Amino acid sequence: SELLADTNESNTIRQVQKACFSYVNPKNPSNPELIHYSEEVLKLLGISKEEAQSAEFTNVFSGKELLPNSRPYSMSYAGHQFGNWAGQLGDGRAIILAEIEHQKQVYTLQLKGAGMTPYSRNADGLAVLRSSIREHLCSEAMFHLGVPTTRSLSLILSGDMVLRDVMYNGNPDYEKGAIVCRVAPSFIRFGNFELFSSQNDLKTLKLLTDFTIKYYCPEIKGNPKEKYIQFFQAVANKTREMIVHWQRVGFVHGVMNTDNMSILGLTIDYGPYGWLEDYNPNWTPNTTDRQNRRYRFGNQAEIGLWNLYQLANALYPLIEEAAPLESILENYKSLYETDYLNMMQNKLGLFTKEENDNQLIHILTENLQLIETDMTIFFRKLSKIKKEESVENAFSQIYESFYKAEAVTDQLKDSWLYWFTQYLNRLQLETTNNNDRKTAMDSVNPKYVLRNYMASLAIEAADKKDYSLIDELHQLLKKPYQEQPEMEKWFAKRPDWARDKIGSSMLSCSS
Ligand code: AMP
Ligand code: MG
Ligand code: MG
Repeated sequence: SELLADTNESNTIRQVQKACFSYVNPKNPSNPELIHYSEEVLKLLGISKEEAQSAEFTNVFSGKELLPNSRPYSMSYAGHQFGNWAGQLGDGRAIILAEIEHQKQVYTLQLKGAGMTPYSRNADGLAVLRSSIREHLCSEAMFHLGVPTTRSLSLILSGDMVLRDVMYNGNPDYEKGAIVCRVAPSFIRFGNFELFSSQNDLKTLKLLTDFTIKYYCPEIKGNPKEKYIQFFQAVANKTREMIVHWQRVGFVHGVMNTDNMSILGLTIDYGPYGWLEDYNPNWTPNTTDRQNRRYRFGNQAEIGLWNLYQLANALYPLIEEAAPLESILENYKSLYETDYLNMMQNKLGLFTKEENDNQLIHILTENLQLIETDMTIFFRKLSKIKKEESVENAFSQIYESFYKAEAVTDQLKDSWLYWFTQYLNRLQLETTNNNDRKTAMDSVNPKYVLRNYMASLAIEAADKKDYSLIDELHQLLKKPYQEQPEMEKWFAKRPDWARDKIGSSMLSCSS
């Protein structure tokens, strides 16, 4: 209520001026059916399992029933999409239900796919089951990997059918609609600031920035200008840290538009994301970005910076001084390089710092691209190597991470033997013993990630009303760094049928 509410309370699609949000009620779903909830998110919110199994839970988190004294709303924002200014966007299919305080933490609860809002533009405000399963599973998996992210409380079928452009024989194909309740301290994005800046509405821009600092960065003190600069610094830091985590686990966001960049450095908007299987920095899961590959794995840090430039531009009118913003942007690159080096050293089990480590990492990432090599399996196998091992033996340990054994040529082997010679020499400089190094490496190199085909299998089963795989994957991915012998089947390379295919269909943004 401290932010400006839209005075037009109708739900019609429109341009909204001088307001941070619009009141809007979720669509009444015909026949909501709970598919899955996250026990950990229940706990965060202080909801019991019994409550989660009640009809009230399903009704509230599908939008059928409003919480007492609540007034749902959608936020307005703008953004740069694929590098181009896109004007007003806003929560086109997200509706904030309430804020809940539990154990001194405040959480915002937001339904995704609960119907049209003033910001739906030309779309329907709905989400299909497959994209909702992907969001629900991946946000929880990311959390357990230690990656900053929005969370997912629940996955509920709406009982309504939704039309998307998935065509079989040219016919429209109706799909089941679903609603996810996502949870985060705040869903404010870079694009919220860009909107008011683009409208030259400095009053609302200031209101939003002051609000964001007051509630989400309370440690920031000083006069207004100092505060805005520190705020920008904090966002730059959090964005950078988030992206380093993405590179560590092999996550490709797929649509890093400025409207999908959280001001809190949380991974937000699980749409056409994907997991790197063979290590290929040029890979992007987003089929609408296959030409430019703007959001490819190897470009995420660069795009983080590009997006921060847009945020700096948006905040500039409040600061009216370019130098402090520029210096933050300039430092991003070198700070990222330091963080990246550190992260890679950890992945390799290098805890002392040596000048040549950069070189070692460079050669490694080159080698990983020589033939298709599974990133997750490679790093997980690497921790088994002992300092005193022969170079040949070390190489044989990671052999399983190659997609095609027949592609291993003598030349490739030589490249790897060269690297392993360097690596084993380098390990001699470490004081940690083999066991401790393995433990440390296994705590940053996940054994289990949500491979694209895994989500796809869960989607296919769910389409036939079998939700057991959703729960199996959810349980598996709660302990991504732990050995789970009974789950070993998920520690495997992508099967051949799933090659270059992510879901039961290709992926774009708004499914
Ligand atoms: P995204 O690419 O998912 O970040 O979406 C970009 C913009 O389109 C955001 O403002 C979304 O809220 C909006 N949007 C995406 N899908 C839908 C949909 N099915 N209905 C309404 N708005 C949507
Ligand atoms: Mg979005
Ligand atoms: Mg989206």
